[in-house]
Amino acid sequence: MLHLIKHPLLNHKLTQLRRKETGVREFRETLGEIAGLMAYEITRDIPVKKITVETPLAECITQELATDIVLVPVLRAGLGMAEGISHLIPNARIGHIGMYRDHITLKPMTYYSKLPENLPDAVVMVLDPMLATGGISSDAIKILKSHGAASIKLVCIVGAPEGVERIRRDHPDVQIYLAALDEKLNEKGYIVPGLGDAGDRLFGTK
Ligand code: URA
Repeated sequence: MLHLIKHPLLNHKLTQLRRKETGVREFRETLGEIAGLMAYEITRDIPVKKITVETPLAECITQELATDIVLVPVLRAGLGMAEGISHLIPNARIGHIGMYRDHITLKPMTYYSKLPENLPDAVVMVLDPMLATGGISSDAIKILKSHGAASIKLVCIVGAPEGVERIRRDHPDVQIYLAALDEKLNEKGYIVPGLGDAGDRLFGTK
């Protein structure tokens, strides 16, 4: 299922990411802030449990999270999102998946995977700012499922209809979260209008 998260602050910050004049520092800060704002909405439905604590004045029946949260940034652009969300959920464990697209076969190839052991009991958030063809996200989700993950949320910032369709087809059980659904992919697989290459803009590699 696709959830388009709309909020004036989120839209304002996304505009900053899209502007071609936005430099590395602002891009990095803003990407993290957007991911944090999205996480606030995305975690609305996660389980909580009742607990009792002592305030300086009295006992208080209150709540705390009843589930582990695991963040899985897809390298490398997902790292900027993990940074932003971990400010909000500092106890979240963080796994990493590294993938690239083979230039000849165009197939996603995994070159790195290091995941925490609590995946089967956790809400797992896969982080990748751009949902373009969906091939890499789909394969990353497959890896997580093979390690027992059962509750998976795919968190991207900008998506293309092709990518949303691919995830719906390959993983109908996965919830997809976007701040914007853009028009299309161009012939090179970039989202249009999009924001360019998120990894390059985040790390200043171009
Ligand atoms: N990855 C990016 O960084 N940007 C796109 O537009 C598509 C994939």
